[in-house]
Amino acid sequence: MKSSDLKIYSQRLDAIVEFAHDGVISIDTHKHITFMNASACKMFGYTTNEVQTLSLMDLIPKQHKSNHDNLVDDFYHSQTTSQSMQSRRAVEGLRKDGSVFPLEISISKIRVNGPIEMVGILRDISVRTEMMKKLEYAAAYDDLTGLVNKREFNHEAEQHIALSKHYDRPLSLLLIDLDHFKKVNDTYGHNFGDEVLIQLAALLKQEVRESDLPARWGGEEFIILLPETSLEGALILAEKLRLQIASNDFVLSNEVFSMSASFGAVEMQPNSENLTQLFERADTLLYRAKNKGRNRVEF
Ligand code: GH3
Ligand code: MG
Ligand code: MG
Repeated sequence: MKSSDLKIYSQRLDAIVEFAHDGVISIDTHKHITFMNASACKMFGYTTNEVQTLSLMDLIPKQHKSNHDNLVDDFYHSQTTSQSMQSRRAVEGLRKDGSVFPLEISISKIRVNGPIEMVGILRDISVRTEMMKKLEYAAAYDDLTGLVNKREFNHEAEQHIALSKHYDRPLSLLLIDLDHFKKVNDTYGHNFGDEVLIQLAALLKQEVRESDLPARWGGEEFIILLPETSLEGALILAEKLRLQIASNDFVLSNEVFSMSASFGAVEMQPNSENLTQLFERADTLLYRAKNKGRNRVEF
């Protein structure tokens, strides 16, 4: 290549790297930063001048430093010259202001004028990670009450049931339906109804054990999975909840309202029942509680 061509070629490369949307960082064998493009500087909050005094460890959160140190050493000594986009690792970066952000990185080794340097191509994935978290939350939790939804309940309950069967441990289920809830909506309006559901969910959350799983089954129906709990224990909790709901003052602005709920309580039959069967038995019992006059627990 002619020297004028070489100059153009080199200018083009410089411009591509400098203006790339992805961050580009290279380090020497002592893990000192030898180069950071504009995107990388912006990502980590440093000016171009500050880069010269930086080491790779300045860009890594405290809790990952030693692990990262080993990973870089392993990569340096490995036969691999680059880790492809497919094996990109999700890692975290440390900004100058101390904040931590998620990033994706692919790394490669290059020889620069003799010694080997390592180059990382980085992408800030904060926005995507945040969006994923929101989507995961929306898929698993009920918007109104903050309890887990039916889908997540089913997913977690299946796992608990499998464990209970495997270890031959008891497991129970409570199904709860508010009594004459339509009247609440009709009398006080849908917003008041919503507020009652929120307050009820808070009451359930407060009364159950950490290991129990309360969920909004749908509408004004709630469900609680009780791992490590026999029917006897489930009935004690159901009766406590029934009394608390019946004696609770549900409040919105100046309105105070009392309410009751009906319960179906079941314990899993050892080795035979699946979640659907367990639920169906609870549902039949709940129906019986309604027929027998509501505000009661059937088992
Ligand atoms: P019972 O269960 O005692 O037989 O009577 P109910 O009036 O509670 O029975 P039903 O299941 O027929 O009605 C449930 C009502 O719950 C219907 C609906 O208006 C109300 N509801 C369901 N979901 C919501 C919600 O998210 N917000 C509000 N405000 N109301 C809801
Ligand atoms: Mg109902
Ligand atoms: Mg109801």
